[in-house]
Amino acid sequence: MLTDTHCHLFYPDLKTDIENVLQRANALGVTKFICVGTNLDDSAECLKLAEDHESIFATAGIHPHDANDAPDDFLKQLSDLLMHNKMVAVGEIGLDYFRNISDPAIQRSVFKDQLELAKFTDLPIVFHNRDADDDTIRMLAEHGPGKGIAHCFSSTLETAEAFMQLGYFISFSGNLTFKNSHLPEVAKEIPLNRVLVETDSPYMSPEPHRGKPNEPGRTRFVAEKLAEIHDLPFEEIAKHTTENAVELFRLT
Ligand SMILES: [Zn+2]
Ligand SMILES: [Zn+2]
Repeated sequence: MLTDTHCHLFYPDLKTDIENVLQRANALGVTKFICVGTNLDDSAECLKLAEDHESIFATAGIHPHDANDAPDDFLKQLSDLLMHNKMVAVGEIGLDYFRNISDPAIQRSVFKDQLELAKFTDLPIVFHNRDADDDTIRMLAEHGPGKGIAHCFSSTLETAEAFMQLGYFISFSGNLTFKNSHLPEVAKEIPLNRVLVETDSPYMSPEPHRGKPNEPGRTRFVAEKLAEIHDLPFEEIAKHTTENAVELFRLT
């Protein structure tokens, strides 16, 4: 039984077909889903999906791409959303200097405020880091709650070790399966009690579905790849990653 620790189920392709999406996932052994918000509106949509489906849990946060558009009272609005008992984390938050869709200074300010919010509400974080290793590590050390996920990990082993030292889990998505990826080398070194799996649906479709819209069931392919990397039975990977998710997000 697997948990997809990061999917964006509010995208129309997934949301309008949600019953079938969940059923296809169940058939592949994926039975719990963390629906991750990227702004105030879609965080509310995540909550609605979580209210309607026992197996879906939600997070609320402002993604670095959305940081420019965060309203003045975003922390108050996030706090209100996070009060609900199916809200399990603050996210998706972080820094993205690859695309720089939001001004970097604004990204850092919105990230910092949400790190402090996670500490205050005693919730884990789901964070995104692209080409921003140094600032992410520094800000996590200064302001982070010390629990959460480096989602869709794509950086170096050195960065993974810094995140783990600060208390964070490393989550792999479909890019672990891409040909010529350096990530299998990194994944090999991550202890099984620190690793998670995700799809980042509808993005990041794993092999053999690369380039097509992704859905949560494909967590299966990421877990299978991890099993191959560690030379362990699939069941062992499923057991560890799910236990880690249940513990981190306090899933019931
Ligand atoms: Zn992301
Ligand atoms: Zn995401």
